Amino acid sequence: MADPGGERRPAALNSWVEISQSAYARNLAFFRRRVGPEVELSAVVKSNAYGHGLEEIARLAIRHGADSFCVHALDEALALRRAGFDQDVLIMGHVPLARLGEVVIEDFRLVLYDSDTARRLAGEAKVSSRQARVHLKIETGTHRQGLDGVALEALLKEIRNNLSELEVEGVYTHFANIEDTTRHDVAQQQMARFDAALETLERHGIRPELRHAACSAAILLFDKTHFDMVRLGISQYGLWSSKETLLSWAVHAPESEGAPEEVLSPVLTWKARISQVKDVPAEAYVGYGCTYQTTRPSRLAVLPIGYADGYDRRLSNQAHVLIHGRRAPVRGRVCMNLVMVDVTDIPEAGLEDEAVLIGRQGEQEVTASDLAGWVGTIPYEIVARISPELPRLVVA
Ligand SMILES: *Cc1c(COP(=O)(O)O)cnc(C)c1O
Repeated sequence: MADPGGERRPAALNSWVEISQSAYARNLAFFRRRVGPEVELSAVVKSNAYGHGLEEIARLAIRHGADSFCVHALDEALALRRAGFDQDVLIMGHVPLARLGEVVIEDFRLVLYDSDTARRLAGEAKVSSRQARVHLKIETGTHRQGLDGVALEALLKEIRNNLSELEVEGVYTHFANIEDTTRHDVAQQQMARFDAALETLERHGIRPELRHAACSAAILLFDKTHFDMVRLGISQYGLWSSKETLLSWAVHAPESEGAPEEVLSPVLTWKARISQVKDVPAEAYVGYGCTYQTTRPSRLAVLPIGYADGYDRRLSNQAHVLIHGRRAPVRGRVCMNLVMVDVTDIPEAGLEDEAVLIGRQGEQEVTASDLAGWVGTIPYEIVARISPELPRLVVA
């Protein structure tokens, strides 16, 4: 297992993740052009920056023009502070009431959608003679977090009358299906509900500085969702939210904006070193459960990664990896820490040669989206589950 403080030379590693600085910079420059100079570009770095490495990505984000961060959890926000980032951080998930004091002390922005949190947070702010910055989350149809019309009215009254320690810096919502379809009537409906909520705020004399709604797909497809700030997640990493988003872009984006493969460049490459090459006879079974049988005398390479590292077990007998620029199919079941691939047609494959699990090698590419297709999930889950124990190396 990699030790984060230990050896980080690729030659000394069994498996690691490379982060391309140039690809990341291109993606961020594209999104900056897209939203313009005035809109706050907030990099969503929850879940170890979608598996890309929190500190590594945070550093690149600020260097290449992001203004602030969004995270899910208080501990992620604290990790950014510990790593020296003093930018604004919006915590989008629940913070245990017992820890709201830390939100105040660090001056984090906090999502707000319930009055219990509002009261406790205001109390903590009062104790330390500070203001607490909140972003109201509006329910517009996702039914996950958020204030519906009635709850919003009630909370606004309470804030105005009793909770003067809360500064309503932001108001936001989140789309339910913008990336899952090429038809966007639900998104339009959600926008209408968000507009209505903004009017409610206005009636209460509250004009938050930051109105926001857009995730990656919305930033790409709907200019009018950009408001004052955007929450850029998956596409800063060069990944499309879905095939539907890519299709919508390909069909609707003005040609001057670029074809899909020109606008986003995948940032992450996941590599492992071959830990054994072996010859096996024809009709040999491979791996647990004997789910694969060779049809000819074969050469197998053993790779030192498995489902414990985030290489999903459902990739068994499904996925390909790249070795010497060619595709080597996974044979048999993915184990906890090992996987076997077929290198019969890649005779030069040898001990400690590099295999690419996600990314490009020579002319070939295996994308997070390919893995998602094989597993039956979305690229978000594929990258977010790459073990945080593996070193992230920033390369040119
Ligand atoms: C994760 C998340 C985002 C980012 O979404 P992407 O599709 O990855 O761009 C934005 N807003 C909220 C509330 C989120 O939870």
